[in-house]
Amino acid sequence: MFPIQMVDLKRQYLKIKTEVDEAIADVVQNTSFINGKAVTDFSVQLGQFLEIEHVVPCANGTDALQIAMMALGLEPGDEVITPSFTYIATTEVMALLRLNPVFVDVDPKTFCIDPSKIREAITTRTKAIVPVHLYGQSAPMEEIMAIAKEFGLFVIEDNAQAIGATIRFSDGTVHTTGTIGDIGCTSFFPSKNLGCFGDGGAIVTRDASLANKMRMIANHGQSKRYYHDVVGCNSRLDSIQAAVLNIKLKHLHQYNEARSQAAAFYSKAFASNPNITTPCIAEGNTHVFHQYTMILKDHNRDELVEQLANVGIPAMIYYPVPAHRQNMFSFLNLPAVDLPVTDWLTQRVISLPIHTELDQEQLDFIIDHVNSFTK
Ligand SMILES: *Cc1c(COP(=O)(O)O)cnc(C)c1O
Repeated sequence: MFPIQMVDLKRQYLKIKTEVDEAIADVVQNTSFINGKAVTDFSVQLGQFLEIEHVVPCANGTDALQIAMMALGLEPGDEVITPSFTYIATTEVMALLRLNPVFVDVDPKTFCIDPSKIREAITTRTKAIVPVHLYGQSAPMEEIMAIAKEFGLFVIEDNAQAIGATIRFSDGTVHTTGTIGDIGCTSFFPSKNLGCFGDGGAIVTRDASLANKMRMIANHGQSKRYYHDVVGCNSRLDSIQAAVLNIKLKHLHQYNEARSQAAAFYSKAFASNPNITTPCIAEGNTHVFHQYTMILKDHNRDELVEQLANVGIPAMIYYPVPAHRQNMFSFLNLPAVDLPVTDWLTQRVISLPIHTELDQEQLDFIIDHVNSFTK
């Protein structure tokens, strides 16, 4: 059996090696390392994939979020509603920009922000909502967009974990995550569903003027070379990374399909295990399973992680400390924040290996051990 990893990038690479190696060699031959043709091609291709007009490539998903918040003109002291149960990048950039994250609890089934709790978190200083499509499925965007419209708030989607996922609204229309709010942000970190060979990210929008602003901010705030109109940053997607992404984007549907098949196999095998709650796919959603994260009921989680490690099965806790309990945010005086579902989940979630290369032998091995260790 192949060794089991949380994500197996090597075997995925070997399947597309010829194409990828050629694409990289091409960039090297042309020495078009910055803003080369591969970057322009990728912007066009990603726009087609997501069916959205404007794509601004950037250096990573964290920058994508920061640039989006800068472009919307958010100012120090503005409040941004967001979940605490997410990767730190979502809220870290708010702190960097001196915005105040207002943490809202999540739905215990979907792990995404609970729309019924957003309304009570809105104040006169609230400017935006940043939902996170956690682990690969859409946050409840129909409700979120309705609230945003009612209160005149911006919506920035953190789509780092869900590229290619969709959500069906009550009128039957199907929407792709990242293209629903004002701005969608994504990451091409190697382990993401669409990952490059280093860091990479992109910002998407339907608004041409926002796209121009974001392009400017990502490029030192310049409108014309050496003329800097606004404070920006240096955030570019390298041509080599774009070349890799051009190849991998062609396989993304198939990659997402492989992940969701592995997930379905896990969920079927754990369905009768009373100590496991398998991940829920919300009605109308497609789930691209960036992570396969389940809830462990009455079982010691550390012990399970250790037992699995002993037989060569990695398992991870995403995330052991929610944002509102990070020392980083001590300046916000947050102890009053009460997020019972977030705290409850933080103590009980566990993620199993999920990637495009999991084979039947590996899946059976993982399932047998998880079931026997938790019964
Ligand atoms: C990975 C990730 C990011 C940040 O992306 P980087 O490319 O690593 O900067 C932001 N938000 C979420 C939810 C992520 O999973």
